[in-house]
Amino acid sequence: MSIDVIVIGGGPVGLATALYAVRSGLSPVVLEPRAGSIDKACGEGLMPGGLQALAGLGVDPDGHDLRGIRYVARGRVAEADFTAGPGRGIRRTTLHAALSEAVAAAGVEVLPFGATEVTQDDTAVTVRTDDSGGEGPTLTAPWVIAADGLHSPTRRSLGLDRDHTTVRRLSSGSGGGGVARTADTRPLRRYGLRQHYGIRPWGDHVEVHWGAHGEAYVTPVADDLVGVAVLSKQRNPLSESLAEFPELRDRLDGAPVVTSVRGAGPLRQRTTHRVEGRVLLAGDASGYVDALTGEGISLGLAHARAAVAAVVADDPQSYERSWRAATRRYTLLTHALVQVTRPAWTRRLLVPAAATLPPVFRGAVNELARPGR
Ligand SMILES: Cc1cc2nc3c(=O)[nH]c(=O)nc-3n(C[C@H](O)[C@H](O)[C@H](O)COP(=O)(O)OP(=O)(O)OC[C@H]3O[C@@H](n4cnc5c(N)ncnc54)[C@H](O)[C@@H]3O)c2cc1C
Repeated sequence: MSIDVIVIGGGPVGLATALYAVRSGLSPVVLEPRAGSIDKACGEGLMPGGLQALAGLGVDPDGHDLRGIRYVARGRVAEADFTAGPGRGIRRTTLHAALSEAVAAAGVEVLPFGATEVTQDDTAVTVRTDDSGGEGPTLTAPWVIAADGLHSPTRRSLGLDRDHTTVRRLSSGSGGGGVARTADTRPLRRYGLRQHYGIRPWGDHVEVHWGAHGEAYVTPVADDLVGVAVLSKQRNPLSESLAEFPELRDRLDGAPVVTSVRGAGPLRQRTTHRVEGRVLLAGDASGYVDALTGEGISLGLAHARAAVAAVVADDPQSYERSWRAATRRYTLLTHALVQVTRPAWTRRLLVPAAATLPPVFRGAVNELARPGR
């Protein structure tokens, strides 16, 4: 079998990478050790840009149309509709099944092995694999695109993780004898949990409830199903975390819980580079800020397209540029929102401020919703 590109990871970004590769005339193979329709902790809200990218790949999974984003806190509401068309709430298992079907129809093989070692020279990359039964096949191809998730083993093995060092900036206070003050700029470690409730959605927006310590995301994903994802620096059980969102708790009161809790984190993962020789990182593997703006899948689809374009052009370094161009907006807005809402007082003010300034809120929501480049 002649392979042009080995895709490590068969999540949404890996499968989309394979589809972009086939469309570009390449022969990809995907490595994914997990069988069946893969589930994952996710808010499951696909932004309009991501939905359009999926449609461009001929993938149209069932779900619940999303009109926009609504922020809620203590009776205050700020709402903004998408101007670039609807997004869609899609169960991860449904999204995975739809992408898997498209990949199979395109004739791409998904091999049930995990990558265990990646080595390369000037012309080719060799990937060793295994499964629960022991060693798997060793594959060689001119290129590897690794989309193996938030804790990407490929990223780690290539040394592309950026250290999560503590940075403390010293600034002199004005007057008062020039007393030195420290500004806490330590990276915030946040975690996500999600669960589904068998209840009719009460709206067509992704609803984000702001609490003192975290946010609860409500995404309608079917006519009788909503997903709730809680993002927080605290690692409490989901039932405890929901206590700080009384309006949401009342909504969910008595609704059947239909999935088990899944978690992920720490969410923030930084990379030094996205390209090492003939290996390119895409999706969460290439770095992640936070789930607060619900952009991960859309962004990963933009990475997938850009990585394949760089491989076709035989110019891997061009991917660093296109990755930055695709990621810049998301990184800036998400990082700014996470940082600004660190102190309790700004968290309290955020929803009232967004409600008072609808054009600003609408602008931010639509910056994130628009299609990736
Ligand atoms: C709580 C939470 C809420 C979120 N909400 C949203 C949202 O509303 N909207 C949105 O767009 N995004 C959201 N995200 C982000 C989104 O889930 C991710 O951005 C998305 O899953 C990234 O896809 P991926 O394919 O890069 O990685 P993944 O989906 O993690 O897939 C990686 C795959 O790689 C496989 N793998 C791992 N190691 C190996 C190996 N060694 N060999 C081969 N395969 C391997 C794994 O089995 C997995 O299937 C959220 C994330 C969290 C945590």
